[in-house]
Amino acid sequence: MNFLIQASYFAAAFLFIFGLKRMSSPVTARSGIVWAGAGMVVAVLVSLAFVDTGNPKWQQNLGLIIAALLLGNVWAWWQGRRVPMTAMPQMVALYNGMGGGAAAAIAAIELYSAHAQGYVQQSLALAGALIGSVSFSGSLIAWAKLEGTMQKSVRFSGQKIFNALVLLATVLVGLSLLAWLTDLKVTLFFIGALAFGVLMTIPIGGADMPVVISLYNAFTGMAVGFEGFVLQNPAMIIAGVLVGSAGTLLTLLMARAMNRSLANILFSNFGETDVTGGTVTGTMKPAEASDAAVQMKYASKVIIAPGYGLAVAQAQHKLYEFVKMLQAAGVEVKFAIHPVAGRMPGHMNVLLAEAGVPYDIIHDMEDVNSEFKETDVAVVVGANDTVNPAARTNKSSPIYGMPILNVDQARQVYVIKRGQGKGYSGIENELFFKDNCALVYGDAQQVLVKMIQALKELS
Ligand code: NDP
Repeated sequence: MNFLIQASYFAAAFLFIFGLKRMSSPVTARSGIVWAGAGMVVAVLVSLAFVDTGNPKWQQNLGLIIAALLLGNVWAWWQGRRVPMTAMPQMVALYNGMGGGAAAAIAAIELYSAHAQGYVQQSLALAGALIGSVSFSGSLIAWAKLEGTMQKSVRFSGQKIFNALVLLATVLVGLSLLAWLTDLKVTLFFIGALAFGVLMTIPIGGADMPVVISLYNAFTGMAVGFEGFVLQNPAMIIAGVLVGSAGTLLTLLMARAMNRSLANILFSNFGETDVTGGTVTGTMKPAEASDAAVQMKYASKVIIAPGYGLAVAQAQHKLYEFVKMLQAAGVEVKFAIHPVAGRMPGHMNVLLAEAGVPYDIIHDMEDVNSEFKETDVAVVVGANDTVNPAARTNKSSPIYGMPILNVDQARQVYVIKRGQGKGYSGIENELFFKDNCALVYGDAQQVLVKMIQALKELS
């Protein structure tokens, strides 16, 4: 029996890692999620089998366990099916928070019932409790900000010092628990940890929440890993370590793609300050959707730079329909994907995959950026910051240093957007004022419908 359990843990670990590996490419990502999900099913089943089934507590709680499994699965399945792509970051925040909360709940049981014995186990339980609680309450605030339930960031003078004191007090109570464990101190410890999660998150602007969620995701992984050690459950340790390391890497990659440090993201109020990002000269020139479409039909090469507005408009299907018409007219069309286009990593790849765009015409920024110079038309669909040349030239701009798509180097640029709305960083875009740039105003989906219509009328 023991061999079977250990072998199943090994199988679960293998499935997690294999799934994660497959998630690294959009071609295999879908199946990667299925493989990792299968690993989770194996891990849950083997964890249940691992329990001493003769234990009367297990028999008493079996009904609750089954009810929790059913409720969790049905709820997640239903939510997962109906969530729109633009609301995905909120959903991830919520589920991630639940993971952190679950890890903290395990620690609470271990600490209140004094099951965790010895310094090592107790320290691990406390570490998991602290990190899991911060992730739980912090993720709930992140969810509220992304959902729009909490619109303003909360700031007050001396906030950083106050937060540091709350953390210090919580850690001190935690350390004292190692010497003398009482229910009151455990409760105080959890209140402190939960409060710190809230305090740490409320001053951060809603726009930076995706990075914060990724950070809390890493926290949840670590908390689960620590509690796995306490419960001596290898599946939890492996899953926790994988989530913790993947979350940390993702956080750092997102920060690097924006050319910002993690400290800057956590403490700078980015996107909420009223910055102009330097003087912008020139005028914005409007263009008709039909004129832009016709020019593209007679071009030899077109590169499309999609951004957050594509997701808002859910215009990916219309966009691909338009692309197929251009291809049929002999135009070479490529998609250029900025690593932080949209609001979550891989956002654009997921949208384009959903519309059935073949992967061989989707290119990462570094592979395609040199081609804009020899491109007839660059089309920006609902992107802004990721195509702002100020990032290359304007040292005073908050996005200075962020690598961008060089759309401005194309012979002609068309930008599809609804109006004068700024990008996520809140700054004006120099591109829109350049001589070779024209703006096609309107919701991306409606503009693309007009463009498709214009090409149909031509043929
Ligand atoms: P931006 O958020 O900079 O700009 C989006 C543009 O889309 C706006 O200017 C808006 O203008 C336009 N838009 C909105 N809705 C529509 C619509 N229905 N139809 C047409 N246009 C629309 O987008 P980018 O993708 O260029 O940049 C992403 C930003 O998000 C970067 O600054 C990045 O750092 C940040 N970020 C990305 C993360 C990621 O992992 N991807 C994580 C965290 C932050 P208008 O209102 O006039 O229509």
